[in-house]
Amino acid sequence: MSAALDRLAVHTITTKPWTLAEAADRYARRGIGGISVWVEAIEGMTATAARRIVDDAGLRVPALVRGGFFCDPSESERNRRIDRNRELIATAAELGAEMLVLVVGATPGTPLDRQRGWVSDGIEALLPEAQAAGVKLAIEPLHPMYAADKSCINRIAEARHICQRLDHASVGVAVDVYHVWWDPDLELEITRLGETRTLFAFHLCDWRVPTRDMLNDRALMGDGCIDLAGITAAVRLAGFDGWDEVEIFSEEHWREDQDQFLDRIVERYRLLESRHG
Ligand code: ZN
Repeated sequence: MSAALDRLAVHTITTKPWTLAEAADRYARRGIGGISVWVEAIEGMTATAARRIVDDAGLRVPALVRGGFFCDPSESERNRRIDRNRELIATAAELGAEMLVLVVGATPGTPLDRQRGWVSDGIEALLPEAQAAGVKLAIEPLHPMYAADKSCINRIAEARHICQRLDHASVGVAVDVYHVWWDPDLELEITRLGETRTLFAFHLCDWRVPTRDMLNDRALMGDGCIDLAGITAAVRLAGFDGWDEVEIFSEEHWREDQDQFLDRIVERYRLLESRHG
């Protein structure tokens, strides 16, 4: 147990082989303060039952992951997806999650800029529910390799533009090092998010070289090429005092003993904390 892990949270997808109850127990035993819950991890149980599990473990829930997916050429389909996000906001509130992370979606064949308009409209439609529920909405830019079919928002700047347009305290940005480490404006954009109080979340992992799979080959912090110390320092300098969330989806790591994997996550996190100053 250590006070240094108070602001550390782990995403349930990181230890995918574990049930929610197993994950909550193992995280709490190590003194980890938070658990970000993927919707898949609570399939088949009520949000109330899930909340009891995390409450009993003494954990807090930074985020429910993930809503969004606003992009479709059909307006009725887009409306259905907005409704699905309304349900997720309600689930997040029942779970006690501080925010709902939005992977905004993308669909091949429509200019990305037009799709970003759908995203903005979709989020705008959710603002009353989000505010009433006390659940923040965090737009997560995804790496451009996902621009065709997962996210039309790839740079922090594109997420920031939507935040500026909506100008609402419930809307901000989730900065995931995996997705934005290459951005030439990274430091500047992190500073801007800090200034506008829209830096809602900070996700940690690493970029494996070479990457063998576009989705499930994330690396443990320190096993890749990302300047984690530099980015963490920039995030702190921007005034971010929220959670450091470890989010690693990796076929390789899921095959390992999850207890040993989690021990290494904690070890690498402590090392990072000591390095960024
Ligand atoms: Zn993330």
